[in-house]
Amino acid sequence: MSQTASLFDTYKRIPVRFEKGDGVWLYAEDGSKYLDFAAGIAVNSLGHSHPHLVSALKDQADKLWHLSNLYDIPGQTRLGDRLVEATFADKVFFTNSGAEALECSIKTARRYHYENGDAGRYKIITFEGAFHGRTLATIAAGGQEKYLEGFGPKAEGFVQVPFADLEAVKAAIDDETAAVLVEPIQGEGGIRVAPEQWLRDLRALCDEHGVLLALDEVQCGVGRTGKLFAYEWSGITPDIVAIAKGIGGGFPVGACLATAEAAKGMVAGTHGTTFGGNPLAMAVGNAVLDVILEEGFLQHVVDVGLVFSQGLAAIADEFPDIVEEIRGRGLMLGLKAGIPNGEVLTAIRDEHMLAVPAGENVIRLLPPLTITVEEAREGLSRLEAAARKLSTAAD
Ligand SMILES: *Cc1c(COP(=O)(O)O)cnc(C)c1O
Repeated sequence: MSQTASLFDTYKRIPVRFEKGDGVWLYAEDGSKYLDFAAGIAVNSLGHSHPHLVSALKDQADKLWHLSNLYDIPGQTRLGDRLVEATFADKVFFTNSGAEALECSIKTARRYHYENGDAGRYKIITFEGAFHGRTLATIAAGGQEKYLEGFGPKAEGFVQVPFADLEAVKAAIDDETAAVLVEPIQGEGGIRVAPEQWLRDLRALCDEHGVLLALDEVQCGVGRTGKLFAYEWSGITPDIVAIAKGIGGGFPVGACLATAEAAKGMVAGTHGTTFGGNPLAMAVGNAVLDVILEEGFLQHVVDVGLVFSQGLAAIADEFPDIVEEIRGRGLMLGLKAGIPNGEVLTAIRDEHMLAVPAGENVIRLLPPLTITVEEAREGLSRLEAAARKLSTAAD
């Protein structure tokens, strides 16, 4: 019987049991250690056991754990103010997960049009390869058959078109369209970067038709690409942005950010959450921002990302049969594999390094944003060792 027999069998678990983490390293029960370039799928943005996050959580734990949103939660107001200060947003709603942040985004978009007397505008245009979460609405938004299968009627109102295809969006927009929802970099879809010009064109198209532009930055946001948010690279101003993963650094936190105009329908009583924005989560979220907003931190992500991606390109040059292509930006990088990505991941794990699979036969590399150049080089040497073994085996 498997060790996890009592749990839903929804995850095929990797046969290593970790009990401790420190920075970019994870320590297994058997005493071995692994270089963690998965980071909980872009969650441990500051690595494991970051001292500033640990002390923020412990200090808050001594004071107050939970307060209903019926009260003003000081840490929540502070984190909201700081996100507003640092972004396009005027308003923030805190959640416990990415999917909940997307649910809030979708509801905000629909409610905006309702408020405008245009309740017939409810459709959300999404993109092939998208991933927006596992709730009933977000699996419909993601549109992936493997996540919809067997879960009854697909939630209505989601229209899907090919990624980065402006003409397809144009053709799909009608007088029932509420919003376009897009990941500036598709994570689960295979580290597919939305071209900057396409995002600008999309913004203009949305404006032309009175459609809101909502972004899913659950994976690519919070410093991952070397800007606080990935949309900044294109210079656009979105109406709504969903975030999660990295903002909690490992503590469950998500948020829906919006302009005051886009959020105008979300008045008292329209939406709620028991746990969202709780004092523990907010203490950690504020601590994450303390570090990410520090002078020079995002430049560090850009610099290390450059060293790492150049090293990856060299590996791709040397082993073109194993690595076909390098994708991504900052520390959100992907290797498109020339053999099944599961085999590459196993070979990487044999080198005591962790990465994550993605669509289009890609391996995602999402290390903590705090990694040093030396740690990035350590990752490269392990990846190279894995590629060499796979390449030799293939001969
Ligand atoms: C992980 C992810 C989600 C879902 O987040 P959960 O916290 O698992 O609900 C949504 N969108 C994107 C882009 C993600 O990477």
